[in-house]
Amino acid sequence: MKFDLHCHSHYSDGKHSPSFLVHRALANQVTHLAITDHDCTAAIGEVKDISAMLTLIPGVEISCEWQRHEIHIVGLCINSEEPQLESLLLAQQAGRRTRLKEMGNELQKLGIDGLIEYCAKLTCKSLSRSHVADFLVEKGIVKNRQKAFKTFLTRGGRIFVEPNWCDMTEAIDAIHNAKGLSVLAHPTRYPLSKRKLTNLVSNFAIAGGDAIEVSYGNVDLHTQKHLTEIALAKSLHVSAGSDFHDSNAHWTDIGKYPTLEERAKKNAIWEHPKWHS
Ligand code: AMP
Ligand code: MN
Ligand code: MN
Ligand code: MN
Repeated sequence: MKFDLHCHSHYSDGKHSPSFLVHRALANQVTHLAITDHDCTAAIGEVKDISAMLTLIPGVEISCEWQRHEIHIVGLCINSEEPQLESLLLAQQAGRRTRLKEMGNELQKLGIDGLIEYCAKLTCKSLSRSHVADFLVEKGIVKNRQKAFKTFLTRGGRIFVEPNWCDMTEAIDAIHNAKGLSVLAHPTRYPLSKRKLTNLVSNFAIAGGDAIEVSYGNVDLHTQKHLTEIALAKSLHVSAGSDFHDSNAHWTDIGKYPTLEERAKKNAIWEHPKWHS
């Protein structure tokens, strides 16, 4: 069995359709795939009947606030039609639209028009700063996405707008209410000290969190080992996924992440008593 429990389609900031992701997963021998779009579950229904050869795990990645830090919680095995989860995701999507409008206004003040029109043409239901970055690249304002984030979109950037995400505990509760399992995504991608990260994992466990991602993208073995240790110390399960967005980014692919350690495999989220496919 080969799992990829974290990736994005064009319904959030991924480049490809859900069916492209499923076919790519099959080509890469992935047996269990979760498409986990940012604050959006539109991909789930679209690929439900596409392939009998692969198990699709209904998923989502929710942007949250924890002690004024932005963190991401992945929900797996969710019932995406459950009303509490649905309304939380709709509120997050509305917040994203409001933020986009404000970023559009800030850009206009700088003499850059057309963001809203650009975004209106996208398939996306969960508008993200990545789309603003692509717009700035397409307009020739910046050379690449990285530059767009650095100069315009991160805190202190020229058009940074404070997001208004739900609290971490709300996301965990909504996922549980939708019969899902909650996973703290890519813990080392947050700008947190080691101590603060341990604190986050503790709070996540106290809030009822189920697992933490210990392997993703190009995470190094030392980091993976450290994360596995904190997870197991808190009796949490572990999860893994590529966080794939785009086939043009050659360093990522569906199913591509460092192999889990044996002790992690024994405590993998797919071994959780509440895991169901
Ligand atoms: P948002 O959820 O709208 O705040 O957008 C965040 C998304 O932008 C993340 O999910 C990443 O895919 C992407 N992202 C965040 N930071 C960067 C960065 N520095 N460079 C490129 N992409 C980024
Ligand atoms: Mn993303
Ligand atoms: Mn994320
Ligand atoms: Mn992600």
